[in-house]
Amino acid sequence: MIDLTTLTITKAHDSLKKGEYSVMDLCNAYLAVIAEKNPDINAYLEVYGDIAEQAQKAQEKFTNGTAALMTGIPVAVKDNLLVKGKHVSAGSKILENYTATYDATVITRLKKEGAVFLGRTNMDEFAMGSSTQTSAFGVTRNPLDRERVPGGSSGGSAAAVAMNGALVALGSETCGSIRQPAAFTGLVGFKPTYGSVSRSGLIAMGNSLDQIGPLAKTVADAEILHKAISNYNTMDGTSVPESLRTPAPRTPTMKIAVPSECMKGEGIDSELHAQFMKSLETFKQLGYTVEEVPFSLLKYSLAVYYIIMPAEVSTNLERLDGVRYGFSVKDAKNLFDHYSKTRGTGFGREARRRILLGTYVLSHGYYDAYYRKAIALREAITKEMDTAFETYDFIVTPTAPMLPFKLGEKLTDPVAMYLADVFSAPANLAGAPSISLPLAKTASGLPTSVQITAPRWADDSLFSLGKAFEQVVQ
Ligand code: GLN
Repeated sequence: MIDLTTLTITKAHDSLKKGEYSVMDLCNAYLAVIAEKNPDINAYLEVYGDIAEQAQKAQEKFTNGTAALMTGIPVAVKDNLLVKGKHVSAGSKILENYTATYDATVITRLKKEGAVFLGRTNMDEFAMGSSTQTSAFGVTRNPLDRERVPGGSSGGSAAAVAMNGALVALGSETCGSIRQPAAFTGLVGFKPTYGSVSRSGLIAMGNSLDQIGPLAKTVADAEILHKAISNYNTMDGTSVPESLRTPAPRTPTMKIAVPSECMKGEGIDSELHAQFMKSLETFKQLGYTVEEVPFSLLKYSLAVYYIIMPAEVSTNLERLDGVRYGFSVKDAKNLFDHYSKTRGTGFGREARRRILLGTYVLSHGYYDAYYRKAIALREAITKEMDTAFETYDFIVTPTAPMLPFKLGEKLTDPVAMYLADVFSAPANLAGAPSISLPLAKTASGLPTSVQITAPRWADDSLFSLGKAFEQVVQ
């Protein structure tokens, strides 16, 4: 029996190399868990039919000595990443029967290493949400407490790993969609520096914010998966050449900044805040000085995000008009009727809300009042963070202000739902790397977490600190 609860990529790699079990044995162990738990959890929307074939290819790499760390590793894939020949729907009815015509760059890279894709995972529609309840294909339950949400939008990917239905998973985030579900399911979630992972083949939500990243049980696993997918892609204008991937030169100060609101616990669940304060002691044990910093602009991050993101969403989703691909109504009277019926029934409520909001903030007369101001503030927020990074190595906050909430909660109150992103937004706006690490559970068994953000391109410093932190809290 393979103990999936404590398995890591390195352990699996060693066992596969020694021949203690085969790639197919490993996949079968995960498939058995999926068969048992997925009907209730709904982490996967589809389990791929060609796993045996993929496993065989990976096994050959072990036989001929070309196996890399990701070879034979079972990976869950968020439903907004293109895998050639497979369905991909972004959790939306409008793309329900759509088949990908090419591989996302991250998929190409993992295929080369011989990773095994187990299937595609549920998500909030077009990655809009913090709970995986806006999917057109049902909600995903949190494996740690099935009456609660797993977070979102990569909730399916998080649940897949948390229920031991995959060793690691790919998620994507525009504003916290990797880190927050990781926090809600007791996992590590990593959002890399913008431009380090190619967005080619990721169904776009907000182009200037989107990045693909790992969900894993350990920092080391997250690092291995991230390094396997991160590269310069000349075909992607937002991908950054390797030569430019160095952080601004600075000497480590061994100091950590904690925004005042987080120190005081304003708007943060009290049990979560208690664990967060404990985590600050761990940083001190690791040799850091922890200081309260009164950031003056960070608090506007959420408002800025909820202007820029819908603006980008409204333009990105324009292409889904029922003419070129995806769902299309058959009973339209004319072209306008065709567009409005297709989009009106193909998109869910949250997607339609954001398309409307985005169109509004970009329209004549409102562009200056909202969009232009948000862009200016985004720059000011980035500067405020850059200035802080002259004095501090990291900015530390809770990942989200609340514990995993109950299914159905916040669904009728979009603003309450948007508040889940309050601590996520700064890193996405600034393009900075950020990691969510699990902390101890609350008395009622719910997971808590801490989030560490570093300067752009200092991704490796998060992995080092994360691994050191993990050693102390375990
Ligand atoms: N909660 C964020 C939102 O609803 C999540 C976006 C994301 O990271 N994909 O916009």
